[in-house]
Amino acid sequence: SAETPNEIIGVIAHEAGHIAGGHQQKLRNQLERAKTMAIIATLLGAGAIVAGATTKSRGLAGAGMGVAAGGGEMAQRSILAYQRTEEMTADRSAITYLNATGQSGLGMLKTFGRFQSALSLSGAQVDPYRISHPLPRERIANLEVLVKQSPYVDKVDTPALQQRHDMMRIKIAAYMGGKAAASRLMRKNPGSLASQYGDAQTSYLFGDLAGALAKTNALIKAQPKNPYFQELRGDILMKANRPKAAAEAYAKAVSLDPARSGLLSVSYGQALMAIGTPDSLQKAVVQINKGLGRDRENAVGYRHLAQAYGELGNIPAADLATAEGHFYSGAYKDAKIFAMRAQMKMKRGEPGWIRAQDIINYAPSGKKK
Ligand SMILES: [Zn+2]
Repeated sequence: SAETPNEIIGVIAHEAGHIAGGHQQKLRNQLERAKTMAIIATLLGAGAIVAGATTKSRGLAGAGMGVAAGGGEMAQRSILAYQRTEEMTADRSAITYLNATGQSGLGMLKTFGRFQSALSLSGAQVDPYRISHPLPRERIANLEVLVKQSPYVDKVDTPALQQRHDMMRIKIAAYMGGKAAASRLMRKNPGSLASQYGDAQTSYLFGDLAGALAKTNALIKAQPKNPYFQELRGDILMKANRPKAAAEAYAKAVSLDPARSGLLSVSYGQALMAIGTPDSLQKAVVQINKGLGRDRENAVGYRHLAQAYGELGNIPAADLATAEGHFYSGAYKDAKIFAMRAQMKMKRGEPGWIRAQDIINYAPSGKKK
């Protein structure tokens, strides 16, 4: 929904404020204390329904709903009062960061304003004690004052950043919402580079590969150094079953990308795998590992890596990569099975063995056994 990069930057600034303030850890401690309070209240016979508020829910969303009366309510209010001040603190930190980097807070204001109207549209009764964020109107009013005081309030995103944002948005729309969603965005700014990119994406996604390739080549002509136009070219060529040409496009994308995106390296590796010679498989392993090094939680990347190792006959490494893939998809049981399988064929204490041991020892609650 964000129309400008500034709207997202503002939210990231707010979240950075939470992290810098150590709020998550404090919140966890506070929840523990609240749970104790609730138990005491129950023992005293003051409250009946406590469980819903404190034990079932891991986050505040759950705590904000479902509690009836008594100790649970008391405990809940103490948490929420605590969180309200944290939201204000995070807002203030966000403004500090935005001022320090010469950016406007209007985007943050707009995003939170959107949340506010979503809340008012839901028609739910809002009890000021029950919501996990401060009463939006009051919080937004406070934030508005801070935003308007900033010397950078009227600063807008650079045209280049706005263009990248528009392209990203259209790509997400094409993948998540299909042709109609992408067209809706394209209609707002027909003829723009972002719209041309959206047009090429929808052609690629919905079956017109020749058209997609022609449109993408035109995009590359317009911005020869844009890695994501090369990426799209690679995607199209992969779908057209031309892995060699795809690998060349992805290689170019990787070399053009100043941010060294892990995803581009993984795509490059996939194309090398599809070429299928022993030499290209070796190169695929290097590229995919490089990509995963940048982006450790890319579960799909590990599946490709496992396949590449498998085809090269390196079974312990394939098992470990499969374990990692399960691990980062949250399938811890399967992850442990493959980690143990990998360890059986590895030397005790070698790096792969140690990583497998980490997976075996992992407990989702965060507690080590
Ligand atoms: Zn917050």
